[in-house]
Amino acid sequence: MGKVIQLFETTKFNATTGWQGLFAGKKPTVRFSRFFSVDSAKAIKATKYNWLNGINYMAPADFASTYAPKMGFNGKLGNVCSHASNGCKKICLGSESGQAGIRKEGELNATMRSRINKVIAFFHHHQEYMLEMVYHIAKLIATATAKGMQACVRLNGASDIAYEKIKIPAFGNKTVFEIFPDTQFVDYTKKIARLGKEPANLSLTFSLSEENASDAKQALLLGYNVAVIFADFLPETYTIDGHTVPVINGDEHDLRHLDPRRAGGFVVGLLPKGHKAKKDETGFVVRDHYNVPALAVA
Ligand code: SF4
Repeated sequence: MGKVIQLFETTKFNATTGWQGLFAGKKPTVRFSRFFSVDSAKAIKATKYNWLNGINYMAPADFASTYAPKMGFNGKLGNVCSHASNGCKKICLGSESGQAGIRKEGELNATMRSRINKVIAFFHHHQEYMLEMVYHIAKLIATATAKGMQACVRLNGASDIAYEKIKIPAFGNKTVFEIFPDTQFVDYTKKIARLGKEPANLSLTFSLSEENASDAKQALLLGYNVAVIFADFLPETYTIDGHTVPVINGDEHDLRHLDPRRAGGFVVGLLPKGHKAKKDETGFVVRDHYNVPALAVA
């Protein structure tokens, strides 16, 4: 192992010093002017609760490996959602809804090119990518503070990367969660191994697919909530692998750290977004809840 050279001090950062305090005035390489989306349909809902919700969208799963050659990049790229199912990949909001979904089948648009470029940066300019992430988080916190709001950061808008394991040498091998200990982070994950080891400022919600009911039940039994996408309406209760729990409405906002918790967990009910999700027949969008009364949604 080479010697770790620490370049920056996290103690120099606060919302007033902004990124300049954190980086001693030396701006890191910035490839993405809009690293965090704060104006997606999901993010906008948070403002009502006085949170500025910044969501980092990458091209999901192995999308970048398939499409990067169309952009002239032929290097090796990993899968940013190693536990994605066939169903969730087909309708993932990271490639199929909002701006990302406005393109012909098999083609790219500017949004997807940018999301693929993030995956390329993550794998091929890894520490630069992590420093850029730190820079944008610092900016998000400063913006939120200036507006009298709090920042809520979702690093995996359409990926499932265990950022809690990624150390940043320039910050003394701290993770982003350690660099910003007072900032709230949220994530959805399909990796059961991430549960129970996360830092205190990262709120994790497990995500059900058509392939992981046993892990989802385990997550519930550990007291975590599990996100489920329901066709047509949210039911009052839902049963996963024989374990029945109450459902809460997850579409009010994406501030999953504000959701209630209980031993045995809650299901966080979501309705499908985008036309592909509404027509899903893979089993990812569940349709076995029609015999349960609908949840009263305000
Ligand atoms: S795991 Fe999540 S982010 Fe990844 S492809 Fe599936 S739905 Fe999309």
